[in-house]
Amino acid sequence: MLDIHKVRADFPILSQKVNGKPLVYFDNGATTQKPQVVIDAISKYYQEINANIHRGVHTLSQLATDAYETSRGKIQNHINAKFAHEVLFTSGTTHGINLVTNGFASILKPGDEILVSALEHHSNIVPWQMLCEKTGAVLRVIPMNQEGELIMADYDKLLSDKTKIVTVNHISNALGTVNPIKYMIDKAHEVGAAILIDGAQAVPHMKPNVQELDCDFYVFSGHKLCGPTGTGILYGKEAWLNKLPPYQGGGEMIKEVSFEKTTYAELPHKFEAGTPNIAGGIALGTAVDYMNEVGFDNIQQQEKELLDYGTKRLLEIEGLKIFGTAKEKTSVISFNIEGIHPYDIGTIIDKLGIAVRTGHHCAQPIMTFFNIPGTIRASFAFYNTKEEIDLMVAAVKKAQLMLS
Ligand SMILES: *Cc1c(COP(=O)(O)O)cnc(C)c1O
Repeated sequence: MLDIHKVRADFPILSQKVNGKPLVYFDNGATTQKPQVVIDAISKYYQEINANIHRGVHTLSQLATDAYETSRGKIQNHINAKFAHEVLFTSGTTHGINLVTNGFASILKPGDEILVSALEHHSNIVPWQMLCEKTGAVLRVIPMNQEGELIMADYDKLLSDKTKIVTVNHISNALGTVNPIKYMIDKAHEVGAAILIDGAQAVPHMKPNVQELDCDFYVFSGHKLCGPTGTGILYGKEAWLNKLPPYQGGGEMIKEVSFEKTTYAELPHKFEAGTPNIAGGIALGTAVDYMNEVGFDNIQQQEKELLDYGTKRLLEIEGLKIFGTAKEKTSVISFNIEGIHPYDIGTIIDKLGIAVRTGHHCAQPIMTFFNIPGTIRASFAFYNTKEEIDLMVAAVKKAQLMLS
């Protein structure tokens, strides 16, 4: 069982006041808070072993390199990748996706098809549109239903031998829908297509097993699983990473350089040009350790309780509608109140210490589907409590009174 008081004490920011009120942080879908161990890992690196990695023979450089590579190994174990060199450090999900779309520019031909789901974050739409512009490939969209679930019968019909790659999120940031990715991966492979999973919203709630899933790429950001901003992971199957050309040229990614011809380094360095976010990469390993210590069973149990309780409490409010009612969903509640703009509610409850996201959540096509300008999104983490949900519900009711 989760000791909620102990867990909350791990996060210094949670005991802060905002606008004179105790902070209720329900914007975990945008970024999670950081436990003290992660903050300490960053300062410890700068205080004790700051040096550039993979270069110097000197002691500090070796210590820094060891710490960075140890972190890669932790993440390899965490996601069950076959090889450490299949785990690339990136600056986040956006970087990981762009690295893959950039690589596919040399593979796709005019008329090839890319399938993207209706539930995607802009980060997993725009890079593929840019790839289509470059290559003449065609983007096709896997539709969703009113509950915010992807329609698998339509997915099956869209797949063909023209499909070269499918891209879908594991969990939707806007609605919390958990997508049937194992089914989608197997179906993509049946037609010989590759598949990328955007795991940005999944890794805070579960441990992905990339070998069991058999996905070709799995991307996520560190900052949404209690790690630092500016960190992320791109997992890619070895065969794909060998096939794709490098993304950026520079130091660290080369074997030999001359003005006539340059040869590239082995994986993972081929994709890791330049000095990376060393402190962040190390602290991401610390964050993964921390999450495992809390335990994903405990995390899921706590978040399920918050989702059920929050859904029940919010639905007591007259005129409130929840968007995203999938059978499989995580601790995200996107809602609107009849006749009131989400932004106005968000502004008033912020004054009462409640942090939620309002707007389109970088997923405008979903808002267009529901014909709304945006929603109020409360996204819960394992360190949130039912008492905080009560505070939010009271604040929303107060805002509703003021605005109507
Ligand atoms: C947050 C998010 C992204 C973008 O992540 P960055 O950290 O901003 O690169 C992409 N997809 C989903 C589903 C997200 O939630």
